[in-house]
Amino acid sequence: MPKTILITGGSRGIGAACARLAGARGWSVAINYAGNDAAAAETVRAVETAGGRAIAIKGNVAAETDVVRMFDETETAFGRPDGVVNNAGIVRTSAKIVDMDTESTRKLFDINVFGAFLVAREAARRMATSRGGRGGSLVNMSSAAARLGGAGEMTDYAASKGAIDTLTLGLSKELGPDGIRVNAVRPGLIETEIHNDSGDMDRLNRLAPGVPMGRAGSAEEVAETVIWLLDDASSYVNGALIDVTGGR
Ligand code: NAP
Repeated sequence: MPKTILITGGSRGIGAACARLAGARGWSVAINYAGNDAAAAETVRAVETAGGRAIAIKGNVAAETDVVRMFDETETAFGRPDGVVNNAGIVRTSAKIVDMDTESTRKLFDINVFGAFLVAREAARRMATSRGGRGGSLVNMSSAAARLGGAGEMTDYAASKGAIDTLTLGLSKELGPDGIRVNAVRPGLIETEIHNDSGDMDRLNRLAPGVPMGRAGSAEEVAETVIWLLDDASSYVNGALIDVTGGR
């Protein structure tokens, strides 16, 4: 069945791979992004080429008015969402706790955690059967860092993803009766541009040999799991935290 989905942070990396796979299924995809207009336009084109429909919506997931607007624009273009991928997230420059910078850590929690709560709230308001919705699937983007801890480089990021895991478990119980399944995907080391934002340009090459499968994963390999969670094929999966890590 064709679906309407909203992907936050859908212009690049894992979110863009999810958008392209959704397009290949003929789904309608609203692609939220922060500021890279060119990347968003390219992903819209890729979704359309793959066979789906797409729009790009600029907005900050940490800003309440932006989040409400991105859901409104999705509904105007394609109708109520059947699925939402709570994917937008950032890392900050790697640092140990003794060197923690208050403002950048606050910004990270604002986007990775508060933003995810805002998106989950709007998803629930629009998909809950008790509010006239059809139910649906909410997929939260966590990270293997939630259980690894991020020692020495990004404990703040790891802790923000721990919050995503807990949010997922709680909402799966809170929203299950409303027809909304809530699950999280926990990627390991995935080839996207996010690693450069840590300031460690060699991060992927340095860590990949330590992965049991001996390599980093691709955004498409994560997207396959996300699409499965959005699809009716996973209709009895709720409250799961699924690792896509090559065994890391
Ligand atoms: P990425 O390549 O850096 O892409 C980030 C995406 O998020 C872009 O579309 C960006 O938009 C958007 N974005 C950033 N801040 C935003 C904001 N405040 N509001 C709305 N959109 C925002 O990242 P990625 O590697 O694909 O990561 C996606 C998710 O997977 C994140 O939650 C990340 O923590 C998680 N993850 C990644 C890995 C990995 O190894 N890559 C591993 C585990 C978990 P612009 O293009 O406009 O900047």
